Amino acid sequence: MKRGFPAQAGHDGPIEAKMKPAPFRYHAPKTIEEAIETLAEVAPEDGRILAGGQSLVPIMAFRLAKPAHLVDINGIEALQRLSVEDGRLCIGACVRHSAFHQPVVDGPLGRLLATVVRYIAHYPIRTRGTFCGSIAHADPASEWCLAVAALGGEMVARSTTGTRVIPALDFFRGIMTTALQENELLTEVRLPMLPPDSHCGFYEFNRRAGDFALGMALVTYRVKDGTVSEACVAVGGIEPQPRLIREAEDALIGRSPGRATFQAAADAAASVVEPLEDLITSAEYRRELTAVVIRRALEQAV
Ligand SMILES: Cc1cc2nc3c(=O)[nH]c(=O)nc-3n(C[C@H](O)[C@H](O)[C@H](O)COP(=O)(O)OP(=O)(O)OC[C@H]3O[C@@H](n4cnc5c(N)ncnc54)[C@H](O)[C@@H]3O)c2cc1C
Repeated sequence: MKRGFPAQAGHDGPIEAKMKPAPFRYHAPKTIEEAIETLAEVAPEDGRILAGGQSLVPIMAFRLAKPAHLVDINGIEALQRLSVEDGRLCIGACVRHSAFHQPVVDGPLGRLLATVVRYIAHYPIRTRGTFCGSIAHADPASEWCLAVAALGGEMVARSTTGTRVIPALDFFRGIMTTALQENELLTEVRLPMLPPDSHCGFYEFNRRAGDFALGMALVTYRVKDGTVSEACVAVGGIEPQPRLIREAEDALIGRSPGRATFQAAADAAASVVEPLEDLITSAEYRRELTAVVIRRALEQAV
């Protein structure tokens, strides 16, 4: 017998009671090995990893994604790890955004991540969504993707055929497109620790708190004998993927940090970006925004 809601005025018969997403099979592995074996089996049938579900579940509810299988990794203890090894912060696939509300390590890296996390969505989403889920999803306006691109992070991907370590430069390939294969589990992301004398700044512009950024910048630099000796300048939400802007870094190095130097770096970046355009934001607007977010991030870093 078909189950359904009772007939309503204007309808000829019962309305089918349906789940919002298309039907799928649910798998709950308890180890990384079990997860990658299951993924190898189901990937050809659009099997997907379920981490925090904060991006995947909404798009499934709208039926923009209809995976036939979900491999839920939340029960895998080994993916909870958050530790420093060989000078790198290792962030396991089940570490939530909210883990970064307080600095997870001493020094500039911990403080920088604790600043950035507050711009990601809203508190309830941060308690479920994961750092690695953001990296795998690769939204152009993801704060964590910007941080990984700016700081030179590495992604560790595992499948039944082996383990790959993918540098940020090779990982992000475009809008929601990465180097991950369908049968690969992103087990962790590694971020290099920042030297204690690093100056760090992050600036994001959006119309309402909690929205995705229209544009954002993350910068780090060091000063030796009064001039900038090393610099990283990266933008997110501007182009299809976050990236370092070498022209802006060159404009900083060898100069004393201050208003004129920061403006020169900001202008250099604005002249080379190839901004995204959408229904409400023109490419020219994003180009101007590039200069603004970089200058403000640099000012914050002082
Ligand atoms: C209202 C709202 C506002 C938001 N605002 C922001 C924002 O301002 N900034 C921001 O960055 N994000 C924002 N998000 C997205 C949020 O940060 C998500 O948590 C994040 O994008 C995905 O992480 P997740 O753990 O929820 O992944 P899921 O939703 O579970 O998965 C997302 C995708 O990544 C894949 N995936 C996940 N983990 C892995 C893994 N370990 N290996 C391989 N593939 C994997 C999944 O198969 C899926 O395709 C927002 C979400 C909502 C609902």
